Amino acid sequence: MFDNLSDKLDKALHVLKGHGSITEVNVAETLKEVRRALLDADVNFKTAKEFTNTVKEKALGQNVLTTLQPGQLMVKLVKDELTELMGGETAGINLSGTPTVILMSGLQGSGKTTFSGKLANYLKTKKTKKPLLVACDIYRPAAINQLHVVGDQIGVEVYSEPENKNPVQIAQNAIAHAKQNGFNVVIVDTAGRLAIDEAMMTEIANVHKAINPHETLFVVDAMTGQDAVNTAKTFNERLNFDGVVLTKLDGDTRGGAAISIKSVVDKPIKFIGTGEKMDAIDVFHPARMADRILGMGDVVSLVERAQEQFDEEEARKLQKKIAKNQFGFDDFLSQIQQVKKMGSMKDLVGMIPGAGKALKDVDIDDDAFKGIEAIIHSMTPTERTQPSVINGSRKKRIAKGSGTSVQQVNQLLKQFDQMSKMMKMMQGGGGRKMMQAMGK
Ligand code: GDP
Repeated sequence: MFDNLSDKLDKALHVLKGHGSITEVNVAETLKEVRRALLDADVNFKTAKEFTNTVKEKALGQNVLTTLQPGQLMVKLVKDELTELMGGETAGINLSGTPTVILMSGLQGSGKTTFSGKLANYLKTKKTKKPLLVACDIYRPAAINQLHVVGDQIGVEVYSEPENKNPVQIAQNAIAHAKQNGFNVVIVDTAGRLAIDEAMMTEIANVHKAINPHETLFVVDAMTGQDAVNTAKTFNERLNFDGVVLTKLDGDTRGGAAISIKSVVDKPIKFIGTGEKMDAIDVFHPARMADRILGMGDVVSLVERAQEQFDEEEARKLQKKIAKNQFGFDDFLSQIQQVKKMGSMKDLVGMIPGAGKALKDVDIDDDAFKGIEAIIHSMTPTERTQPSVINGSRKKRIAKGSGTSVQQVNQLLKQFDQMSKMMKMMQGGGGRKMMQAMGK
């Protein structure tokens, strides 16, 4: 995410590292590079200029009041200002209605339908809500089908009226349906066009007026840079929306949209989309995003993701199994699955301070576990619980079934064996025994 921008800001801020104090000259030199980095990232000219002016004033004003090194001070000021520019505080969504009505707006292809599904899934799992998805695109039957596919995938009901050509009516009927059937959130996915067009704007404005949503979200593709900001402006003038959803931040996005949209439309970014899967949704936290942009990682989000996947009950069961020497390959497999649920490897590495930058050019294989999973899947239930029965002919069979080699199977068995021993010793509290085992 934002690799290029992070790189350039890092270089710009390096200028001050060797200096003992902040002066007009070295500040100006640094900020010239910062501004260039922002412009390259497609931040609009006015925003970039205001940004560097503010940082400059603060830097020169604070110089005497701080014990920070000039380089550190500048990083802090840039970080604070980036956070401010992206909205300062994290903005939540209003879920107070009965039902809460959320209207999605945006151009076709921005990721509206995908995000509607992600949001329904998020509200269902994290906020224990009962959402209803509503298909209001009356032009493209494929769009209605797409929402049904998404709904099936996440187990959320989808309301549609394929024969009805009146989106206002469909939305109103859906809300009535929600009230009668105990849904407490209604997410209305609307029709988008490839570009701004008056008929589309009138249509969504009419739906907006008729259903008076608690939240109107504007969905925009982060890859479109300044166009994203311009589209946001037009939609905001018509709908006065409540928040922005930035999608496709997993791609090779330059970052301009994320940085400038708030200052241009004065509406916060509320969520980001980081992939095509239904769980690739994150609440937008300006400070954490600033950390990531400056290559400082995002440990808080990393820990939160780990916590989300952590199941206390499961952990307890696992502990018992280890104690009884019953930890098998099925348990190993479920551990791998838990790690995978935390997100793509590249995404996770990007959250580790310093690692994102260091590993930027390394191709991180998301299927790093694929071989291991294939080998385990080729084992019989007995082999999984009692790996000791795996003899030479079984190894050959497993290698063949998983498309790997006997050598790879051996390697996994060896690793598994070492891991089991280690776990057993940690359980027994036998530090000494463990040292002995490792010395063997
Ligand atoms: P809509 O026309 O606005 O409803 O857009 P869709 O939801 O159909 O999305 C358009 C395309 O973008 C689809 O291929 C989605 O899979 C993809 N997409 C949506 N959100 C994301 C995202 O956060 N990351 C990536 N990589 N792709 C996304």
